[in-house]
Formats: sequence, C-alpha cells, structure tokens
Amino acid sequence: MKTDGHPCRMSRHNLCAVHVRRGMLMCRAHWYMVPPELRSRINELWGACGGNILNLTPEYFEAVRAATDDVKARLELMA
Ligand SMILES: [Zn+2]
Repeated sequence: MKTDGHPCRMSRHNLCAVHVRRGMLMCRAHWYMVPPELRSRINELWGACGGNILNLTPEYFEAVRAATDDVKARLELMA
C-alpha cells in the first residue's frame, strides 16, 4: 500500500483519524457532508492549481474553511 497521502481535514479539529490519498481533502464520510456546491467549488479551485499546492489560491483556502466549518457544525448537531 502506498503511504502517499494525509489525514482527513477534520483531523485538525480532532474529529477524524482517517488517512486519505493525496488530492482528497477529507475522508468520504466527511466530504459528503459538505454541500454539493461547495464541493464542486473546492474541486474546481483544486483543479486550477494543477496538482501543485504552491499554486493554491486564497479562494481555495477560504472554500476549505467554509467546508470544514460546515462539517463541524453538522457533527456537533449529531453529537
Ligand atoms: Zn474524516
């Protein structure tokens, strides 16, 4: 198995421990809690960087923050 990857974004909030492959922001469970329009925006902005994280824009990080806040709020509602 390749170890290339990183933990799910929600691990930063101690809400997940799943390891995901490179190019994926979150594990499946958490990613699908993100509203679809935000998911496609993140995919679009990620695609625009051409696979080089150094090219990621402030808009990307803003969208990612909105997505993590959204998932966090959903997880809190479920708790
Ligand atoms: Zn996760």
